[in-house]
Amino acid sequence: MRISTLSIGSELICGEVTDTNAGRIAELLLGGGLRVLRHMAVGDSEPDIGEALNELALKSDAVIVTGGLGPTVDDVTALAAAHATGRRLVVNEALKEHIRTFTAKLGGGHASDRQAMVPTKSTIIPNPTGTACGFHFIHGGCFFFFLPGVPSEMERMLSETVLPFLCERVMHKKVILSSLLNVYGLSEPEVDGLLKGAFAGNHDLQMSICVTFPWIRITLRADGDTEVAARTYLQDAVELVRERLGTAIFSEGHETMEQTVAELFDRRGLSLALAESCTGGLIAKRLTDVPGSSAFFQEGLVTYSNTAKQRLLAVPQEILDTRGAVSFECAAAMAIGVRTAAGSDLGLAVTGIAGPDGGTADKPVGTVFISLATPAGSWTKGFRFGGNRDYVRTLTAWTALDWLRHYLTEASPFSV
Ligand code: ATP
Ligand code: MG
Repeated sequence: MRISTLSIGSELICGEVTDTNAGRIAELLLGGGLRVLRHMAVGDSEPDIGEALNELALKSDAVIVTGGLGPTVDDVTALAAAHATGRRLVVNEALKEHIRTFTAKLGGGHASDRQAMVPTKSTIIPNPTGTACGFHFIHGGCFFFFLPGVPSEMERMLSETVLPFLCERVMHKKVILSSLLNVYGLSEPEVDGLLKGAFAGNHDLQMSICVTFPWIRITLRADGDTEVAARTYLQDAVELVRERLGTAIFSEGHETMEQTVAELFDRRGLSLALAESCTGGLIAKRLTDVPGSSAFFQEGLVTYSNTAKQRLLAVPQEILDTRGAVSFECAAAMAIGVRTAAGSDLGLAVTGIAGPDGGTADKPVGTVFISLATPAGSWTKGFRFGGNRDYVRTLTAWTALDWLRHYLTEASPFSV
């Protein structure tokens, strides 16, 4: 079944309100084995709505429209739907009664009959939580559904009325299952190159690669005639992607990098202390976002000044004088210093120039050193991160967390 969606609202197309309905409808339909093929958005303009309805009808078996069903003058969806399909607007008595009852329940006030006007030959879609009911009709062989714009009302009416209606009418319904794989440490072209041809010619499997800075999310979606078939395709696909990308995949689903790291600490029974300079506590914040992180996270120091690096981490004066606070040697001394001071299994340190000022010719903005001290020795590495202050700090925190992940799984902070 070819399904299109149409969002109506001038606030949506001028960027004032984000169109969340479109994504939510697509998501809910996918759960029912149906796909949205096309989406449009127009303002609260009667001619624009009419044109969009006619255009979508040509290419769709069903069109789901949201917004513009309210009582105010800018709500013209019902009128536009009537004009575009050669119908009249008539008062629906049942709807009028629903609006009166609902308004009275909310404590009275003026009940608008305007909202009870629907195109002729329409069926009402009940709204259990609001005044604006929806309606649907068939025109030119296409099912049209009109729902209110309020996301919670739209969602309930879609799930309770529209989705069951469509599912009943689809002959060869598919089961669609999806998996998310989260990748860090590879660029988008690298991921693309590694996955090239992986699913060529496989029409039951769709893959999308999406950069959600600073990590990459891979979505795999499998179609099957049965749940078992879809699950098998999906598992095979996940395995293939895992084979190609290896340990660059840090989690599946909505698990965050810090949740992965916390789980690994839990499994390994090790403890951690942090010494942060340019990230100003960002790594500690991320780790302590995870409930129960006190089981492994002992302490985090924000050693911003040279004095703090000396006093709290015992970084030798000589290193600060000859190499500087942003140096390989300083990062290494910070990691060893915090591990010793805290008496933890691991000590992780970061120092860098986040900008916008402070860069020099040999240490430009974005220069960062990360060091990890462990019972088996230390690793330290320099990086040149691009972007503004926010980017540099975000990339530093992510890379540091990724080092911990690699160390806890592979006994080295580098991918092996
Ligand atoms: P109501 O009876 O509440 O007026 P309605 O159908 O007229 O219902 P709108 O007036 O268009 O709906 O929108 C109601 C609220 O829902 C507004 O805050 C609007 O910004 C929001 N909204 C409308 N469409 C969307 C959408 N596609 N995504 C997210 N929010 C939306
Ligand atoms: Mg509106």
